[in-house]
Amino acid sequence: MKTYAFTINGKSISTEKTFDVKNPATGDSIGSASMSNKNHVSQAVAAAKAAQPSWAAKSDEERKSTMNKVADILAENTAYLAKWITEEQGKPMAGPGSMFEMQACVGWTQVPASLDLPVEVIFEDDTRKDELHRKPIGVIGAIAPWNWPLMIAIWQIIPAIRTGNTVVLKPSEYTTIGTLEMVRLINTVLPPGVLNTVSGGGDIGASLVEHKDVDKIMFTGSVSTARKIIESSKDNMARLTLECGGNDAAIILPGTDIKSKAEDLFWGAFINMGQTCACAKRLYVHENDHDAVVDVLSELASQMPMGNGMEDGIVLGPIQNKMQFDKINDLVEDAKSKGAKVFCGGSPLGGSGYFYPITLLGNVDNGHRIVDEEQFGPVLPIIKYKLVEEAIQKANDTKTGLGGSVWGDDLDQAAEVASKIQAGTVWINQHGAIHPMVPFGGIKESGYGVEFGIEGLKAVTRPQVISIKKPVLV
Ligand code: NAD
Repeated sequence: MKTYAFTINGKSISTEKTFDVKNPATGDSIGSASMSNKNHVSQAVAAAKAAQPSWAAKSDEERKSTMNKVADILAENTAYLAKWITEEQGKPMAGPGSMFEMQACVGWTQVPASLDLPVEVIFEDDTRKDELHRKPIGVIGAIAPWNWPLMIAIWQIIPAIRTGNTVVLKPSEYTTIGTLEMVRLINTVLPPGVLNTVSGGGDIGASLVEHKDVDKIMFTGSVSTARKIIESSKDNMARLTLECGGNDAAIILPGTDIKSKAEDLFWGAFINMGQTCACAKRLYVHENDHDAVVDVLSELASQMPMGNGMEDGIVLGPIQNKMQFDKINDLVEDAKSKGAKVFCGGSPLGGSGYFYPITLLGNVDNGHRIVDEEQFGPVLPIIKYKLVEEAIQKANDTKTGLGGSVWGDDLDQAAEVASKIQAGTVWINQHGAIHPMVPFGGIKESGYGVEFGIEGLKAVTRPQVISIKKPVLV
């Protein structure tokens, strides 16, 4: 079985100590990754620190041109990297799967390459002129999760590099190889040291966060890890962008024509088997519409082939890892024991992979674990309501606030309800419809800081004011 290297200062580093990466559809090992230690973290940060001044000194045009070369590399290697995503993460090649993830990687590289942060004159009169310049922050530590491993890494590293920072990236220990390979390929068009990788578990992530020369951490993952990162960045005072989980509510307004919107709602809840930060994770439906909504979603669930994502026609894959698989099973069993009605799915499929069917649950409410906790899986609790105000109150009755959605035929009414949802983004008649130009980030325990678009570029820069006194005219 081949061992894959991490990259420091443009060089591939192989180690004797390695760890296996497994295919969640089969349980088979698909390769092993070299394991970094604390010294490698220090070497990677030192390489990034050394490379940063000359990278920042390049013109915007030079960096933009290099970013476009990165996009070309990603496009040329789409099939190779998509295969790694499917084998490591589980999402199928087809449908909204790994080819789709690679297209997103290309788009989320091209868009920051097209954006600028020009100097702003923020005040001027006869006596003075004050300009706001945007400077790179320095060395960025990027810590990625396993659900959209390459796309989320791209979200973290591309804006940072575009604006003159350098990066040390640590992928999730569950989905390491595809990311190591992506960075190896990107390094063929970057100066050494601009983008480095280290690999391993939470301890390697923690070493990166604590390192004295790391100036900012971009993190995507769980709320509990985010709290540890806040704690362990207290000495270096690294700036933080924290994209944590969510428990997004979707509200269908009374009398909505749901058939025309059902497929968008289905994928809004079940893209990547629900293992997506901003999936619809709770569905609030007026009591008169409840049965029709259950019918249309159950019908769609029955039409979606699930299996090994390397096979043709498969659009739903396995759960990525055992921990997540057990958590989903536990939440569904808890709901069933409290009287939940199972409309479809409801227990594991068995076999060697972590396959869990699309599951729709009724007779559940706020206060039940399956509604209050983020399931991060293919299970949707459907909660009946009588009054829209009641649905809004229940939607907001959560510690997180990443996304939310309102579904209705009257867009003004939907917009009014959307304005009352406590979340970083509220979509209307779509859910999770992120875009590289549109800022994305959570409130409450979903974290802080935004990614994407101009706001995302600002988040990886520091403001510097140049304040000029004008000569006195005599
Ligand atoms: P996780 O927090 O366990 O791991 C995320 C990354 O952090 C991994 O690379 C891991 O090795 C690293 N890590 C673990 N301990 C660390 C420490 N002490 N210091 C530094 N790094 C450490 O999360 P996960 O299991 O990979 O992802 C699932 C969770 O993440 C879900 O709850 C999901 O909602 C959330 N998530 C959020 C978003 C978002 O954009 N908001 C996206 C994906 C996942």
